[in-house]
This record gives sequence, C-alpha cells and structure tokens, in this order.
Amino acid sequence: MNVRDSELVSNRLMSLGYSPTENEEEADIIIVNSCSVRGKAEDKALGKVGLLCSKVRPGVHVGLMGCMAQRLGESIFGKVPGLAFSVGTRAESRIPAILKRLETGESNICETGVFDEDSPNLGYVAPSGKAVQPISSFVTILFGCNRRCAYCIVPDVRGNEHSRVPSEIISEIRALAGTGVQEVTLLGQSVMNYGKRGFTWPSDIPSPMGFTEPLPRLFELITRDVPQISRIRFTSGHPSGVTNELVRAMRDIPQICKHLHLPMQSGSDRILKEMRRGYDAATYVEAVAHLRTAVPDIAVTTDIIVGFPGETDADFEDTRRVMEAAQFDNSFIFKYSPRPGTPAAQMPDDVSEEEKMRRNQVLLEDQDKRGLAMNQKFIGQVTEVLAEGPSLRNSTRWSGRNSQNKIVVFEPTSSISVGDTVKVKITDAHPQTLFGELA
Ligand code: SF4
Repeated sequence: MNVRDSELVSNRLMSLGYSPTENEEEADIIIVNSCSVRGKAEDKALGKVGLLCSKVRPGVHVGLMGCMAQRLGESIFGKVPGLAFSVGTRAESRIPAILKRLETGESNICETGVFDEDSPNLGYVAPSGKAVQPISSFVTILFGCNRRCAYCIVPDVRGNEHSRVPSEIISEIRALAGTGVQEVTLLGQSVMNYGKRGFTWPSDIPSPMGFTEPLPRLFELITRDVPQISRIRFTSGHPSGVTNELVRAMRDIPQICKHLHLPMQSGSDRILKEMRRGYDAATYVEAVAHLRTAVPDIAVTTDIIVGFPGETDADFEDTRRVMEAAQFDNSFIFKYSPRPGTPAAQMPDDVSEEEKMRRNQVLLEDQDKRGLAMNQKFIGQVTEVLAEGPSLRNSTRWSGRNSQNKIVVFEPTSSISVGDTVKVKITDAHPQTLFGELA
C-alpha cells in the first residue's frame, strides 16, 4: 500500500511539473514514505530521514509521509531537526499545497491531525515523464481496518475501514489500462471487507453471475468494464472472507489469479485468541481446504509472527504443525515487536530476541523445504507467464510471474516484449523460483 501511495504522490507531483530523479543529491524535494508495522521499519525510516536532513543542500526540502508520520504527529520535528514537513495517512492530497507553503518560508508543517474521510487519498493521475510504463499496478480499494488485532498499529495510523466506490476504482483501472497495465492488485488491509461499511453497492450495476457480496461484484465489474485487464489479484485476506461467493469467483472468473495471501499469524489457538484474530487454527485450515477443493491449483501464502507475548515452545510447535497442514506455497515470517498503544504492548514481551530469531529460522527452513516440494510439482508443466523483462540476477534471462504469483525465469527470444503473456515449460524448481523454457 505504501508503494502505491508513493506512486500516487509521485504522479501528482509530476503532473504539477516536477520531474523525478533516482539521485538524492539532485533532488529539490525528498519525501520518505514510512511504515509503522514493526519497530525495525520505523527505525529504518527515522534513520533515513535523519541522514537526509543532515546532509541535503540548503533549500532542499525533506518531508515524511505515511504511518510513522501519522503516529508521531508534531513530535517528529523534535526527533528529526531540519524536517520540513510531515503528512499522515489519508492526507497526501495536501502535499501540493504544503510545497507551496514551503516556498513562502514556512517550515515544520504537520498535517497529521485528521483523516480525510471524504477524499481519503490523492486520487489517480496518469503517470507522465516515465520512460517505461508498468504492466502491473496496485489499486487501493479499501483504506484502514476495523479489526483491531492485539499487536497491530494499522487501525490507529490508517483509521477506520473506508471502501472506495466502484466508479472511482473503475476509472482508475481504466486509466491504468490506457497506459499499458494488464494486471491489477486490489489492495486493502482487510480487502475481503470491501464494501461492507459506509457504502452500498449501486443497485443499477447487475451481477450476471448472481453475486451479492461487493468484492466478487467488483471483480465482475472490472472484467466487464476494463477488458484489457487480463489479471486481477487482491490482498490481504482473512479466513472469515473465504465465503462461498469469493471461492466461486476465484474458480469461475478467469481473470482472477490462482493465488491468495491469507495471513495466519499463529497456529496456536491460545495465541490466536490473545492476538484477537477472530478464528482458530481449525477454522483457518478449513478456509484453505475450501479454496483448494474449488481451485485445486491455487497457491496460498501467509504471514506468521513468532515470539508473540507468552508464545511457548508448544504454541510454536502448533504453528509448525498447522503450517505443514496448510501446505503454504510461501510464508513471510516476522519477529514480534511491540507497537506503542496496542493491547499487546501491555503484555510482557517475554520471548527473548535469541528465541524469536531461532523460531524465525526454523520456520524459514521448514518453508524452504515445503516451498521446494510445492514448486517441484510444476516441473514438466506449461505455465502462463506475464513477461516483466530481464531477470535481476541474470540479465540474459527474463522473468515474470504466473497466475500463482510464482517467479518464473526463462530464456527469452529476440521477439519477446515486456507485457507479453508467454507459455513456459518448467524444467527446474527452487523454493522461491521456477525455471523453464518457452513452450
Ligand atoms: S486485520 Fe488485524 S493485522 Fe490486519 S491490518 Fe487489521 S488490525 Fe492489523
């Protein structure tokens, strides 16, 4: 979501006549977008913005945006001398006006007090001045979150859930398709809650497939109104959102990719309860089974937190066991860090750093073995890949992703172009990557 917010700010500034630079030393304005989800992410952003403020040329303005700006408010100026402005989440639309105020000599401008509920983000402006247009783009459909998991700071810094109306989303996707985008990833902290609050699905938009839930209806609408979009992804999920309609949409709408990111966080019922996640391990595994029965070739990925307060060896072993039962294609493992103001921050952070590290490593090793076994099932199969261009590791080869969101590396031909959908026969598999040749 931060990547998307940064793109929107960047596009808006370009539309006002600014031009982007990769070189910090050339820039007249530098805005650091920040994340508060873990302590380490905040430390990195704080370090970066502090360093920039201490070394920029006179007249260069450094600003901060995103969740950390929202969380720290005015206090950020005491931590980072020289910071020109700080803009919270849902207030990015104020950045152009802030830049004008800076020209008049104002400084220490803070726009973090309130959320812009009516105009929650900057809105889409077609990118200009970029040499290469992307083929894949994020589109935020839902801001904020109402779930209030015990460890999570997101509801505090991104506010209550707020869904964008379908017409706004469609016009953004249509504009993206006009620039060559073929794949969209619909974003929301709790994306399956799309359209559930503060929003009624317009009665004049029919559902030929008979859906009543807003998210499947949005999928249908995108395929109807923007046929250039060949792939739709969405993230992040919650087991309570794996409804019959959602599963039917994933099975029957060909544009929906065969991948779901469904954060589990823990496999211990006791810890899940402490985390206030709203499900137990059995319910989670049932949701995955429901998906896999209807869509047998779906890839399921997850997030796990190790070292949550009170997590015992037995809780950790439950997590290992449930991860094996769920057969995740990939897992993102995080070491718990208390976030100020959350209920979990009141609990003793009693798992030592060494033990968090050990549990993290054990899960990574488990996942590597599991990921390899899952990927080896692709060997000999032909998979469709949206070609993204030369591979980062070896520029003589190309890479792209298949519907399951697996990275596929292959030998290109001279006629291949970025954005082509190619068929690749898989010949080798690593835990994170598939390798093959054009079929
Ligand atoms: S669902 Fe829970 S973890 Fe995810 S953003 Fe909402 S409160 Fe945070």
